[in-house]
Amino acid sequence: MKNVKEINIADYHKLKKEVVLQRIAARKKELGQDLLLLCHHYQQDDIFQFADYTGDSLKLAHNAAQVAGKRYIIFCGVHFMAESADILTDDEQIVILPDLTAGCSMADMATSGEVKGLWRELAPLMNTDRLIPITYVNSSASLKAFVGEQGGSVCTSSNAGRVLNWALEHGERVFFCPDEHLGRNSAQAAGIPADEVVIWRRGEILGGNSRKQLERARIILWDGYCTVHMQFSAAQIASTRQADPEVKIIVHPECRREVVEAADLQGSTEMIIKAVSEAPASSSWAVGTEINLVKRLTAQFPDKRIRSLSPVECKCSTMYRIDPAHLLWVLDNLTAGRIVNQIKVDKETAALASLALNRMLKI
Ligand code: SF4
Repeated sequence: MKNVKEINIADYHKLKKEVVLQRIAARKKELGQDLLLLCHHYQQDDIFQFADYTGDSLKLAHNAAQVAGKRYIIFCGVHFMAESADILTDDEQIVILPDLTAGCSMADMATSGEVKGLWRELAPLMNTDRLIPITYVNSSASLKAFVGEQGGSVCTSSNAGRVLNWALEHGERVFFCPDEHLGRNSAQAAGIPADEVVIWRRGEILGGNSRKQLERARIILWDGYCTVHMQFSAAQIASTRQADPEVKIIVHPECRREVVEAADLQGSTEMIIKAVSEAPASSSWAVGTEINLVKRLTAQFPDKRIRSLSPVECKCSTMYRIDPAHLLWVLDNLTAGRIVNQIKVDKETAALASLALNRMLKI
């Protein structure tokens, strides 16, 4: 590694945006075949334009693993996504997150320590060997590792139902975390009666449940949520329909149950893109997901009427921390021979987390 002068991120925020964007393009060219730049759909356009691949979290992690010969993988997403990419790529490949404060508020709501605490609390009440854990891909590597160790699986928003059915076949009960709403929407779709689904509230004894409720439960949901998708409501759906009876409402399954029930369609980010892209010209859509994706769809399909379901901008503020200044900063460091903001999952955690990821891929 070259001995180069420290490059201070604060200096980058003083530069004009046009200058930053031009320099990103030049650095990208310079790093050439060594570099792979991955962008989540929720990224701002100033970043998105530089992507080699775009997608949801798991698609991008697979891209990282499948594209051979790339030494540096810059992941323009949030922390857990970069961890998944590091787990799935070779040891020699270096995964970089341009801003280490770009976390996911939902993933942060369930630490492996907290979930291990739940396991300890439940052990006197039930056979925890028959309690199958599922963690949404939006979770830390250490939580995925715990789930892998306990015989459970990861899921995504597109396969949560399938993974839930697999878990119910393999155990007596399922623990689903961190997203209460994806868990509840999937349980409802699987035909589990509402009184067999309980919520584990963090900080309360037995998660705020009686022993009887827990003994009866088939699904135990962690009380995490996505701050972005919680902003959509059934009232917004009603007023949108009133204003435009032709409208189709499509929402992400991280939305509350009543929102998903009132919508015409629900689906993962990729499914939302597919449904809107394939819809006939002049069709009308109100979309309940992150605003950068909705705006991009609106610009991409001017022949359709596409808008956000919410009148206020529902933006993923942590994802937004990946800005052009941070991207240029990591690129400048790389061209100077310095690796900053590398995301590295330790070998033991990665091996256990891979168990949970690979179970999902087999289901
Ligand atoms: S949109 Fe929600 S779940 Fe997705 S990264 Fe942002 S906070 Fe996390």
